[in-house]
Amino acid sequence: MKPVILITGATRGIGFAAAKQLGARGAQIIIASRDGARAAEAAARVGDGACGVALDITDQASVDAAVKQIEEQFGRLDVLVNNSAILLDHYQSLLELQPEVLLETLNTNVVGTLRVSQAFALLLAKSKAPRIVNVSSGAGQIDGEPQSWAPAYCISKTALNMLTQQLTAALPDVIVNSMCPGWCRTDMGGSDAPRTPDEGAETLTWLALGAPHDLRSKFVKDLGVIPW
Ligand code: NDP
Repeated sequence: MKPVILITGATRGIGFAAAKQLGARGAQIIIASRDGARAAEAAARVGDGACGVALDITDQASVDAAVKQIEEQFGRLDVLVNNSAILLDHYQSLLELQPEVLLETLNTNVVGTLRVSQAFALLLAKSKAPRIVNVSSGAGQIDGEPQSWAPAYCISKTALNMLTQQLTAALPDVIVNSMCPGWCRTDMGGSDAPRTPDEGAETLTWLALGAPHDLRSKFVKDLGVIPW
């Protein structure tokens, strides 16, 4: 039976690269986008029976509709990849950061990820080997020197890593991990980044399908565990 994998924000960038990699490994891919037509078009580019779903992770009604569609189509979900995120404050200093920008960033990157994870928990419970992969960022690590780049984004990714730990405790039968793709050439990463989206997606693909079952509640980059 093909593992059923939903990837949020997967019409482009790292999410789309992961969709191609996982589809090529025999998974049933569901590409999510706020724009259902773009999701369907991206799914056609992935091939192998991939399909699309409209999903805005900041909108409960949209998330509920996506759950209903996937339940009717597949009856379960094996892997949820929380890939969607926004980066609004690249080079803004913390002291000039508008609170609204922080709220909007947290609303998508953290609250949206929680909303989607909550909503799909019942479909994940119908899987024999359910997994959640949260696409985070080294920008959220708190073990290094203090940093000033993109404060709202960094704070959101630190919170996402804690959400990974909380989800592990709340969903003991689901393998939940966070991962960092590294700096990749995407709309978010820009053209100077050293990695391709495909390179960035490799660890995601491994966590979604191949990683050992005892690897849980970890932060992973380049197939290895890194500090939170
Ligand atoms: P992109 O900006 O290319 O893609 C982000 C995706 O997020 C879009 O496809 C968009 O989908 C989706 N999205 C944004 N808001 C919402 C929303 N409200 N609801 C649903 N989907 C939404 O980014 P990348 O591919 O670069 O990034 C993918 C992930 O990797 C992100 O979590 C990012 O933080 C992380 N990352 C990226 C790095 C990089 O260098 N690129 C480095 C470290 C981490 P749509 O518009 O179709 O709805």
